[in-house]
Amino acid sequence: MQDYNEKLNDVYDEQLGRHLVASMSIEAGETLLDERPLLVAPHWECGQLKCAQCLQESYVMCRKCQVYPLCMDCSEHDAFECEFFASGAGSRISKDLLVKNYGICALLKLLLLLEQPEQRALCQTLLDTPVKLEDYRNEDGLWQERDEQVVRPLISSGLVQAFPDQQLTAEVLHAHCIRIDNSAYEVTARDGDTLKGVYVRGASLPHSCVPNTVVALDEQFNMKLYAAVPLESGDIIYTSYTNPLMGTSQRQHQLRLSRHKECACTRCLDATELNTHMSSMKCRDCPDGYAVCELSGSGDWRCLNASCGAVIPATEVHELLAEVGSALVEARGELSAYEALLEQHKQLLHPNHFLLLDIKQNIASILRAAALMNSLNDPCKKLLARRVELCGDLLPVCRAVVPGLSKLYAIALFEYLLAFVELTELQFAEGDVNKKEYVAQLTRARSVAKEALDLLQFEPENSAEGFLTDRIGVELERIESDLMKYGKL
Ligand SMILES: [Zn+2]
Ligand SMILES: [Zn+2]
Ligand SMILES: [Zn+2]
Ligand SMILES: [Zn+2]
Repeated sequence: MQDYNEKLNDVYDEQLGRHLVASMSIEAGETLLDERPLLVAPHWECGQLKCAQCLQESYVMCRKCQVYPLCMDCSEHDAFECEFFASGAGSRISKDLLVKNYGICALLKLLLLLEQPEQRALCQTLLDTPVKLEDYRNEDGLWQERDEQVVRPLISSGLVQAFPDQQLTAEVLHAHCIRIDNSAYEVTARDGDTLKGVYVRGASLPHSCVPNTVVALDEQFNMKLYAAVPLESGDIIYTSYTNPLMGTSQRQHQLRLSRHKECACTRCLDATELNTHMSSMKCRDCPDGYAVCELSGSGDWRCLNASCGAVIPATEVHELLAEVGSALVEARGELSAYEALLEQHKQLLHPNHFLLLDIKQNIASILRAAALMNSLNDPCKKLLARRVELCGDLLPVCRAVVPGLSKLYAIALFEYLLAFVELTELQFAEGDVNKKEYVAQLTRARSVAKEALDLLQFEPENSAEGFLTDRIGVELERIESDLMKYGKL
């Protein structure tokens, strides 16, 4: 792993805690961190045993220690971990420790790291992060759940006696779990399951809903952090731990739950959410007005038309959102249910409202799946045109909420590209567009593909985004060869 330390300074302040600051001008795409994970483990609630080496599903156990699962492809796992249970302090622990208490997996990994002086030094910054347990004790059931699934099982298994130097109490174990959760990134295993990955320097990135960096993870869970936009010396390095396609109050709720943090980024402080209007309502009193949340006042929604100013009470907005939210869950992949929801709520919400975008994405993906299944039948042009329209609606929003090098925008461009090329080819084949129009549309498709590739150019090859890059490349080649064929008018 290369060291990029010269570009960053470690800084501490009361408000942000430990964080990183650019120590020089940095261009978009430049690597800032390149880090192996301290640990990667399943979520606490995961019940499916994972191979201790590659973290894919597994049903057999390591023959040597008989405690850790291994898959058919992996013959061994971390030597310290294995020895500890095969012949070390953990050899008297019941062999079905993980089979019975898989929830302890991440915590156990941390405890085993702490037993090894070199690894312990790596964990030090994590251990130094203060945790006020009383802030967590009353969380809705979370403390209780962690206590039942992780802390109590670990204590009753006898493991605490196997780590005498660590002086483990229930409080210490809870604090360790909270530190793991507060510094973990969601990572994806090769079989598609999500896991949590803890990184030492990556853990010290404060949150902004408008991050200035991109986190890239390869198949071995190595993290590469690169600049999404040009940075100036002194700029704080931010990442985002929330879904950019949610509204402000939903992102803040998510951040409070997962990180115990509040956000005051430019998007959170802007009632129009960077002009996307992702939480705006249609005004009921004037024909073309939109109402936004009065962030520093009543919290009600007020029409932006100066001559109107009509108010929609916050309680009504929240009730409506909850209602749409549960209707979305109930729609369960039914195309007609999503279409009905869209029809019903587009009268009430801004066209960019996050819930409408969610419904539109659902419809677009159903249409895409349907197109794949009926590839032999005549694909309906109307449905294809609808897919192009829905994917197109998402583009300006994705562009606005994640500036610079954005994976979100690249993926949205790719979805749009697939639908657009499919429609264009069909229109040409059926004589709806002439050669000149066809070439013009292909030229547009080529620029969409190139834009998506540009956005992904700093992603590692062996990552999901790297594979996406290959797919876009194939699409681009096809477009270019058609342009060669028909372009000479
Ligand atoms: Zn494996
Ligand atoms: Zn083993
Ligand atoms: Zn924010
Ligand atoms: Zn109005």
